[in-house]
Amino acid sequence: MATGAELSTRLVAVASSISLLASSSNCLPLFFTIPRSESGLLRCRFSFRSLLFYRRPLLRFVDTSYGDRGRFYFSAMSSSFSSLSAYEEELAAAKKAASLASHLCQKVQKSIMHSDVQSKADKSPVTVADYGSQALVSLVLKMELPSRSFSLMAEEDSGDLRKDGAQVTLKRITELVNETLTADGTYNLSLSEEDVLDAIDSGKSEGGPYGRHWVLDPIDGTKGFLRGDQYAIALAMLDEGNVVLGILACPNLPLTPIRSTSKNSSESKVGCLFSATIGSGTIMESLDGSTSTKVHISTVEEPADASFFESFEAAHSMHDLSSSIAQKLGVQAPPVRIDSQAKYGALARGDGAIYLRFPHKGYREKIWDHAAGFIVVSEAGGVVSDASGNALDFSKGRYLDVDSGIVCTNKKLMPLLLSAVQESLKEQSSFL
Ligand code: AMP
Ligand code: MG
Repeated sequence: MATGAELSTRLVAVASSISLLASSSNCLPLFFTIPRSESGLLRCRFSFRSLLFYRRPLLRFVDTSYGDRGRFYFSAMSSSFSSLSAYEEELAAAKKAASLASHLCQKVQKSIMHSDVQSKADKSPVTVADYGSQALVSLVLKMELPSRSFSLMAEEDSGDLRKDGAQVTLKRITELVNETLTADGTYNLSLSEEDVLDAIDSGKSEGGPYGRHWVLDPIDGTKGFLRGDQYAIALAMLDEGNVVLGILACPNLPLTPIRSTSKNSSESKVGCLFSATIGSGTIMESLDGSTSTKVHISTVEEPADASFFESFEAAHSMHDLSSSIAQKLGVQAPPVRIDSQAKYGALARGDGAIYLRFPHKGYREKIWDHAAGFIVVSEAGGVVSDASGNALDFSKGRYLDVDSGIVCTNKKLMPLLLSAVQESLKEQSSFL
């Protein structure tokens, strides 16, 4: 392992080349992952930072490290340079794809809610919306970014839709996709059922540490979708294993803060689109595009003033464990239980200060359930880690291997939160 001095020398060399590159091209972002335990790291950081600022403030040093791995990157400082945002076109395409998918999903959800005959056990509406959303996102990304290589990891595949008996469902999905594209007015095309199946199947990428990959959950929170509650279309992009862009379209999330499980007043307007690109912060727009604001995580430092989010479904996260953690922290407010990554969006804008997720034993988290939410919260100033404080690693394919659970809060509260989590986990294991 390199000594602190060696690392320092290497970083200074890299810094010089960055400065050179930065003055002539769009070279952002550059990522560094360095073991946190490395002695002299603070000195390296200091000399690297001062070098950049001393010469010309072209780059901003951003430290997203938590736990035992340091993660650093650089984002543009000067206005001429920052206008060359590295993911501008991808961001526009992703926002368009997620917005159109949310139109399709809302149409289906409204039809469920207005149907008297809909059986609670009938999963077909969610099936139609899930596949329709995935097909739309895949098609729109390809049409909007024709010159880019395309790799998409998404939750669904067309296997069941190609089976006998699925013709009616496939016909409905194709109609919905065509209707949504036509209503948008940008595209002049009529897709066949085979086109839709192909679009769904282009989501088979395995992701990984190299290159760029889109990561999609076409409907996150299907249980909430069926209940008429919260759900999200969650789309992220990985670049060299790092999440660099994320969109959360939350069609039922009020634009005003949510603070408890009680339903919000019917007057509050719903439909939020959160977007984040690395180094640029998090923006919340209304899904109709009429409002746009930069959002920030809560600055609450006293746990007694904090409130926390968790899954609505007890099968997805252990409510008794989060209650024990909240008690240890001295949190007074009751949990805010909502479905889907809408929790990450609400956290990013400061509706609450903590998100706790502790799946039952044996469950493996998938990256599409967290990638977009992770960057939406991180860029709003929050920290997302596993229960031991390790950074989440999205570069390992479809799964996120986390220790016990996922927790998010602001940087000030995280140390307290992690010790309460560890205490509660120890107590829980001693009962087993
Ligand atoms: P949430 O609405 O936050 O509870 O999370 C919804 C997501 O949880 C779904 O999109 C699923 O991918 C995921 N999920 C499904 N089953 C489980 C489970 N047993 N434990 C944890 N998460 C699950
Ligand atoms: Mg999901």
